[in-house]
Amino acid sequence: MTAPTESDAADVLSLARPEIRNLTPYAHASWAPALTRLHANELPWPDAAGGRAPLNRYPEPQPGELLAALASYFGVRQSQVLATHGSDEAIDLLTRAFCRAGQDSVIVTPPSFGMFAVAALVQGAGVIEVPLQADSHFELSADGLLAALDPAVKIVWLCSPNNPTGACLSTTEVLKVLRATRGRALVVLDEAYGEFAGKPSWSQRLGEHPQLVVLRTLSKAHGLAGARIGAVLAQPDVVALLRKIILPYTLSSDSIRRALGALQPAALAVTQARVVALTVARRKLADVFASCPVVVRVWPSDANFLLVQARRDVPLYERWLEAGLLVRDFRRAPGLADCLRVTVGDEAQNSALLRVLGELA
Ligand SMILES: *Cc1c(COP(=O)(O)O)cnc(C)c1O
Repeated sequence: MTAPTESDAADVLSLARPEIRNLTPYAHASWAPALTRLHANELPWPDAAGGRAPLNRYPEPQPGELLAALASYFGVRQSQVLATHGSDEAIDLLTRAFCRAGQDSVIVTPPSFGMFAVAALVQGAGVIEVPLQADSHFELSADGLLAALDPAVKIVWLCSPNNPTGACLSTTEVLKVLRATRGRALVVLDEAYGEFAGKPSWSQRLGEHPQLVVLRTLSKAHGLAGARIGAVLAQPDVVALLRKIILPYTLSSDSIRRALGALQPAALAVTQARVVALTVARRKLADVFASCPVVVRVWPSDANFLLVQARRDVPLYERWLEAGLLVRDFRRAPGLADCLRVTVGDEAQNSALLRVLGELA
């Protein structure tokens, strides 16, 4: 494996939209906390209703302390991190930076996270579908994907662990894709459920593959879905490019504080213990599902949810709903006939799921 050079970095940027490469970004109010702020048209007093922490000042864009904490947690350099308004914003930014409307396209691997295709369609980019292989645990076919790669493809979207099927993609297949896409397309690995997988993150290989981008989030394992904090991990040139188009104040002051709290050692220890507990509960739930006659199949999961195929003549979704339990209905989604995606809950919630299942058996 050869280390990336400056020309590799240039190759990646040459995939981006020329008008974004050449864009002079908005110059936001400078961040100088030691000085009295009379340069940003803020009110000198907290808002009239009053809250726990005053919000009359604009937040620091891309706060250094948060970037440092994210870099340390994800094991990358600070210059390799962009903090985003959830991974959803990262998906949107990457699409807008790399895809020209009416000309470029992206590859997606259904069944997978829907936002990849939606962001492309909003941007006016084409969407090429290379389905995961339903007959082999929804594994990625690198050969199939590479056959669909053409010069118009700017982004290959991969999700590992994959939502909604649950398992990590095979390292061998992803490596095949990475080896063949160098200088040709960005490869984005969405690792929203990475904490639950207990496997090394692809971000550890950023140095080997200049076109690799990894997405992480505090929404799932860290319990901060409402704070909207995600991270793009990529080589510094890609981070710098995205920084040009990200909204300057995309992270609210409250969210920044909550994210910093979640990344403190004590909070990380709690999160780690919860991840272990959820993983144990996932295994138990999967075992009971698998032994249940109304369940046709449970797929192996590296995430905090299980994809379950129920017998078509059994109203499992409806029965769970009648019991007040909402699961995700994929029964009519392409490639997912009769499938439900069940989030692993706490002990009481998991017992409630199994109680209904027991009544049906
Ligand atoms: C939940 C989810 C996201 C969204 O994450 P946010 O950080 O909350 O925007 C991104 N990707 C995948 C695969 C997800 O399942």
